[in-house]
Amino acid sequence: MAVFAVDKDFYGIDLFEEGKPERSSAYLIRASEPILVETGSARSHQTLVEGLRELGMAPEDVRHVVITHVHLDHAGGVGQMMEAAPKALLHCHPRAARHMIDPSRLEEGARAVYGEQMEAMFGVLKPVPESRVIIQEDGSVLDVGDRQLIFYDTPGHAKHHACILDSQTRGLFSGDTVGIRYAPAYTGWDFVYGFPTTSPSDFDPEVMLKSLDRLEALDPTRIYHTHFGVTEPASEAFRFSRRGIQAIQRIMPMLSPESTLEEVEAALKGAIQKDLAALGHADWDVSPLTLDIILDSQGILVYLQRQAAGKL
Ligand SMILES: [Zn+2]
Repeated sequence: MAVFAVDKDFYGIDLFEEGKPERSSAYLIRASEPILVETGSARSHQTLVEGLRELGMAPEDVRHVVITHVHLDHAGGVGQMMEAAPKALLHCHPRAARHMIDPSRLEEGARAVYGEQMEAMFGVLKPVPESRVIIQEDGSVLDVGDRQLIFYDTPGHAKHHACILDSQTRGLFSGDTVGIRYAPAYTGWDFVYGFPTTSPSDFDPEVMLKSLDRLEALDPTRIYHTHFGVTEPASEAFRFSRRGIQAIQRIMPMLSPESTLEEVEAALKGAIQKDLAALGHADWDVSPLTLDIILDSQGILVYLQRQAAGKL
């Protein structure tokens, strides 16, 4: 299933990120001015273009590209997409814009997290001309006539993170702020599992909880996850996100800024196993979440170090 229907003239495209199904997606809204939400990594560009074609669209038809934040699995392919869609404008968070115009610092940061694997995993970053980048402040609106997308500044996963409410379906594009919806096709489990993503380097549990409160107060009907699919009712995704943050807050007193990454990974893995058991899934092996456990542990450790240094 490369393409899936979400609503009227509204589709998800599986990007097969990491070569795996139902890991990451982009969304296409066939509005009067077609809108693409998220591009995935540069490595997914071809898959994205094929998805658009499956929906009867050429990349040139896209008029608006929207990203939730600059992390490469969400926006690494923006440069390629903007080249392929010469009429499109890019809409992003105020702190995201400069990284799209000049991706050198973004690339450096990603290399620090992913090392030599970075290019193989995500491909090459291309800059976007400044004249095509629209900064969307908190509360600002992209109005395409038949619908409006409203941008909200939602830190907690990243300081450059926006969540976007679609006026027509009252669904929320949550990026990495309202947890990851782990689909069975990705995990191999026979149930959907939800847990927050705390990857480096801005994760802050208190700030994330505040963003969740603020987003839930908007009373969205559904959550459009980048990872992966749709949660309806939206309250379910808020619930699993809060439950996961609380599980992480419970392991934090056992850890310190001097903890090794292995210690954090073991604690986080234990917290997830406990969470799964509490949900009645004690028998499942958590190894499908290994990559996220490694990244999330880095984010937790960075948080503990920043907290100790008084740099939150
Ligand atoms: Zn992500």
